[in-house]
Amino acid sequence: MTKKKHFETEAIRNQTERSQFSEHSTPLYLTSSFVFDDAEEMRASFAEEKQRNLYSRFTNPNTSEFVSKVVAMEGAESGYAFATGMSAIFSSFAALLNAGDHIVSCRSVFGSTHSMFTKYLPKWNIETSYFKVDEVDLVESLIKENTTILYIETPTNPAVDILDLALIGKIAKKHNLIYIVDNCFATPYIQQPIKFGADLVIHSATKLMDGQGRVLAGVTVGKEDLIREIYLFARNTGPAMSPFNAWVLSKSLETLAIRVEKHCENALKVAEFLEENKNVDLVKYPFLKSHPQYNVAQQQMKLGGNIVAFEIKGGIEAGRKFLDKIKMCSLSANLGDTRTIVTHPSSTTHGRLSEEDRLEVGITNGLVRVSVGLENVADIIEDLTQALSN
Ligand SMILES: *Cc1c(COP(=O)(O)O)cnc(C)c1O
Repeated sequence: MTKKKHFETEAIRNQTERSQFSEHSTPLYLTSSFVFDDAEEMRASFAEEKQRNLYSRFTNPNTSEFVSKVVAMEGAESGYAFATGMSAIFSSFAALLNAGDHIVSCRSVFGSTHSMFTKYLPKWNIETSYFKVDEVDLVESLIKENTTILYIETPTNPAVDILDLALIGKIAKKHNLIYIVDNCFATPYIQQPIKFGADLVIHSATKLMDGQGRVLAGVTVGKEDLIREIYLFARNTGPAMSPFNAWVLSKSLETLAIRVEKHCENALKVAEFLEENKNVDLVKYPFLKSHPQYNVAQQQMKLGGNIVAFEIKGGIEAGRKFLDKIKMCSLSANLGDTRTIVTHPSSTTHGRLSEEDRLEVGITNGLVRVSVGLENVADIIEDLTQALSN
C-alpha cells in the first residue's frame, strides 16, 4: 500500500486510473453497467474473486473515487456512497440492527434522524433512549442488555452544542457498542471522529462537502467489517449515489480544505460581530471563549465550523422580523453553501414542535442559525447589521 499523503493532497490526487485518453480530470462514467470479456470473467466477478465494477448500484468509478477520498480524509478503512445523507443514515442503521435492538442517542440529532428513531425503527421493535447535550453523565445508565448502537452528532444542529467525542467513545468501547457519529457539520477537515473511537462516520455530503448547494448525497465510512454489512445491504436495497453526483462531489472535495478554512474564518468574524450587537442576547460558536464547551471544541476541532447560532432579543416575533429584513443572505433550509443562509428554527423548521420539545434540543424562541458562506465577510455583516437594527 502507498503511504497516505496529506489531507489536501488525498482530496486532489486520489484519482481513478486514467483511461486510454490520458485525461487530467476524471471523466464522468455515466453507465449503469459494465461488460465482461467472457463467461469466466463474469463468473469470477460475481463470485467476488475479482474486484471490478459490475453494476452501478454496487460500485461505479465515480462513486468509488468519491468514497476513496472520504475514506482517506476520515482515516477510515472503507466506505459506501448514498443518494442522500438520510439514505446513508437509514441504510447504515438498517444494515446493522436486528429487530428488538436498542439505540442510545443524543436528543440533538438532525430532525429526520429523530423521525427515523421515533416513527420508523419502532416498527421493528427497535427503541431509542435519548440523553441531552448536557447529560453525558447519564449515557451509561441508558445502556441496556440489547443496546447495540451509540449515536451522536457534534456540533449539533441548530444549537451548535459540542459533545465530547473521546468521552462518549470510551463509553461505547466499554459496553461494546457500535459508535456512530454524524460528522456533517464539522467535515473531516475540522474533525475526524475515528481518532476518538468512532466505528462509523456518516455525512450528508449535500452540505459542506459539495458546498455549493447543487447535489444531494451521503456517505458512510469506517471499519471494514461494518462497511461490508452496509455495502451488502445497500447493494441489494438500492440507495446508491448516482455517478453524476459522485463526479460533482469528487471535484468539490478537491477544494474542501480551502473552502472550509474560509468558511470558518468568516464564521468567527460573524460570531465576534454578533457578540457585540445590542439586539443579540447570546452567541454560540464553538471557537468563541464564551461557548460552554469551548475547551472540548479546542481538543477535538481544528476550526470552529461555519454555523453560528444566536439568540435574538424579542423571541419569535423578533426572529420573524429579522428574516423579513434580511436582504442579501438567503432564507433557505440548506446549510454549508457558498451563500450565507439564515434560518429561524422555532418559526420554520421546528415550528410544528411544542415549545417544550424545541427546548429539549436547545431551540429557544429567538434562536437564529446562520450558515456562514464565502461572500466577503463585510457584506455578510452589513446585511446582518441592518436586519438586526430596530
Ligand atoms: C442535512 C443533514 C442530514 C440529512 O442529509 P440529506 O442529504 O438532506 O439527506 C443528516 N444529518 C445532518 C447533520 C444534516 O445536516
